[in-house]
Amino acid sequence: MKKNKAIFLDRDGIVNIEKDYVYRIDDFVFIDGVFDACLALNQAGYKIIIMTNQAGIGRGYYTETDFFNLTNWMLGEFKKKSIIIEDVYFCPHHAVHGKGKYLTTCECRKPKPGMIIKASVEHKLDLENSFLAGDKLTDIQAGQAAGIGQNFFVRTGKSIPDEHCTLADGVFNTLPDVVNFISR
Ligand SMILES: [Mg+2]
Ligand SMILES: [Zn+2]
Repeated sequence: MKKNKAIFLDRDGIVNIEKDYVYRIDDFVFIDGVFDACLALNQAGYKIIIMTNQAGIGRGYYTETDFFNLTNWMLGEFKKKSIIIEDVYFCPHHAVHGKGKYLTTCECRKPKPGMIIKASVEHKLDLENSFLAGDKLTDIQAGQAAGIGQNFFVRTGKSIPDEHCTLADGVFNTLPDVVNFISR
């Protein structure tokens, strides 16, 4: 059976403007160009997967319900533009600051590849021919550990230290720049 190619997007700093612990719709601001980029990715046959560390849940800053409500709203905004986001994966854990059941050294918190591996099984993804876009080294490391073909930094989120840049397969200013590159 033919496997699907995908692009894995970090959420904060790639889809929406990075602010610490975004969980309210009012604080969620889409980054310019994200809709156009995602539409082009859909049209090029890429499944779009969002994967996000959400230790704010484990820390008790907000709940999984808050996260799901925001996610449903976000997916609705994409859908209004006829964009299909295949799935959203999140890690609510933290190995030091997690409370109760969230206090665990899990396999899903990036830089671990757990979310990507789960997605690859559930959506039959061809990781070797897939891409990742993130704004932190832990995104890149998770992609590399999972075996994603090319892992890119995008400068729309956290500032990326120079010494990290060489560790990725490319550094782009915007998500549309990534799309232009991979659809060449
Ligand atoms: Mg980020
Ligand atoms: Zn986790």
